[in-house]
Formats: sequence, structure tokens, C-alpha cells
Amino acid sequence: MRKLASLQRITTLEPIPNADSILKATVLGWQLVVKKGEFSVGDLCVYVEIDSILPERPEFEFLRARSNRIRTVRLRGQISQGVCFPLSILPDTLEVEEGLDVTTVLGIEKYEPPIPAQLSGVMKGGFPSFIPKTDETRVQILVDLLQKYEGEHCFVTEKLDGSSVTYYLNEGEFGVCSRNMELEKSEDNSFWKVAVNLGIEAKLNSLGKNIAIQGELIGEGIQRNKYKLKGQTVRFFNAFDISNYEYLNYSDFRALVENLELPMVPVLEERFPLVSDINTLVELSVGGSLLRKETRREGIVIRPLKEKTDQIGRVSFKVINPKFLLKYEDA
Ligand code: AMP
Ligand code: MN
Repeated sequence: MRKLASLQRITTLEPIPNADSILKATVLGWQLVVKKGEFSVGDLCVYVEIDSILPERPEFEFLRARSNRIRTVRLRGQISQGVCFPLSILPDTLEVEEGLDVTTVLGIEKYEPPIPAQLSGVMKGGFPSFIPKTDETRVQILVDLLQKYEGEHCFVTEKLDGSSVTYYLNEGEFGVCSRNMELEKSEDNSFWKVAVNLGIEAKLNSLGKNIAIQGELIGEGIQRNKYKLKGQTVRFFNAFDISNYEYLNYSDFRALVENLELPMVPVLEERFPLVSDINTLVELSVGGSLLRKETRREGIVIRPLKEKTDQIGRVSFKVINPKFLLKYEDA
């Protein structure tokens, strides 16, 4: 699992106009509001990311009304993402070190949106071990990685807000998986219905190899159908070669879905030299959806044209549109 909580330094503290008791802090690539006097620049703190669910503890009591989930909020006009806690919330025995992952120590879990009935389905088994699950790291924790890959040619796709799906063909066997499990075939299940409608099994079969394609299921009944679609469909963002245990590079992925006449996630940039400034990337994430311009896009996903792996695993990350979070988080 990714780091939701870690020990990080406060790199800047700035005043917020018309607010006397709070300050704007920078931690990693995040901006958030802290109480005046609680921290100084250079202090280590426990930084907890948005979408963390905190356990019941007196120190976390102020989050009770929000179901103990850390969300994007706006305070006195300032967008605030995440929370800084003092090191005193850690067990005394812990050896303090910058960057240390304290997600498990603190009993923090990641918020996952509830899956509606037509999507949940009946579990056939766990997620296949021969395919990676879909996931994206948040750009805000990648300060060093961005510097390393600055200038690298990347492609940028729109991040759609639906439900993750994996279709695979392995040793002649076709499988359908939601984010964390494989699903029993059924006429009621949306992941299966879309597979049948688009003829995905036959299409994968025509490739004559062990392959998985992964995408986002969108449409009626899914994440409040933000794109106002009729029915349900899928937009693909990955092709994975099971036999070689590797993702296809962008051009091969694109050719594969086009040849199979399957839809891809919308592409914003096909040759984007990576910039390391996180605020610039956040600005790039703001805008309307390419599926429906009146809908704010959830964000973007950035990846090198040639696949790369690094300490974080696959080099691929998401930049969430802060305006999308403000609009939808509390509804
Ligand atoms: P999150 O939805 O915040 O958990 O972010 C990761 C998820 O975004 C992945 O597991 C995918 O299901 C989903 N996703 C939606 N659009 C894209 C895209 N264009 N590229 C990669 N992942 C995407
Ligand atoms: Mn999502």
C-alpha cells in the first residue's frame, strides 16, 4: 500500500489574507492550513494525505463529523489538502526519520468509494497474481522523482471518475475483475455486461497471447454518472503483457486498443516534456472533461511514453484537480 501518513518537513509557512490564527504550510508538494504557532519552518511532522481514514483516538476527534476521513477543504479561501500532526501522536518507541511511513503504525486506511450493487458482483477469487492492480501515486509525494525525470517525454490522459476494471485472457481463460477481486460471470454485473456488449473476450482471443487490458467503467449508476452517459461503457488506460509481466509502451497500447476498436481514456497530450514544478502540473489538471465539457475533470494521469520503473514501482502518477475535489467531496 502507498504511504498515506509519513514523517515530513514543513518547508514553508505563509500568512493567509484576513486570517490571524492560521497559516498556509507546504509539505512535499502539498499545500495545507495549519494553526499558527504549532509548527516552525523545518520542523518534522506527521503528514497525513487526503483520503486517509483515521482510527478513533482523542487526537482525531475533530474529524468525527467527517467520518474520520481527511478531505480537501477550503479555509478562508485557501485550499487545504491533508493534515499535519505533531510527532507526539507517534508511539514513544518509534525512531523518527524523515520520510518514514507511519501509515500502519497509526492504523490509517485508505478511503474507497462504496461500490453500488450492480457493480459489486459475486467474488470468484482474489485479484489474479499475474496482473498488477490498477493504482496511481499522487504527484504531491513525488518531488524527487519529478526532478529526476524532468524533460522526459510523457503522455497525459484524463483521469475518469468511474470504477476500475481488468479484463484478461490467460492460457485461454477469460477473466473479469473489479479493483480488488475477480468476478463470477453474471448477467446483472456491469463489468461483465460491458465485456459482453463490446465482445472483449473474442477481441482478446484474436491477439493470440496472454494479455490484460485495464480501464475505467463509466456511465449510469457509477459515481453519479458525472459524464451524463446513456448506459455504461469502459475507457481503457493500460495493456499488460502477462507472459513477460510488463505494461505495453504507449504507442503499442494505443495501436492495440485501436486495432481492437476499443475506446481509450481521453488523451490531453501525446508528447509532453515533464516539468518538475507541482503547481504547474496541478494547473494542467484543472479544466472540463473531454467527455463532457460542463463536467469538471477529476484530474490527469501522466506517464512516460516508454514505460519506466523506479522506487515507486511503475513511473505513473495522478494529478487531481483540486476544484473537482471541492465540488464533489462533500456531496
Ligand atoms: P484513484 O481513483 O484516486 O484511486 O486513482 C487511481 C485509479 O484511477 C486507477 O486505479 C484507475 O481505476 C483510475 N483511472 C481513471 N482514469 C485513469 C487514467 N486515465 N489512467 C490511469 N488510471 C485511471
Ligand atoms: Mn477513482
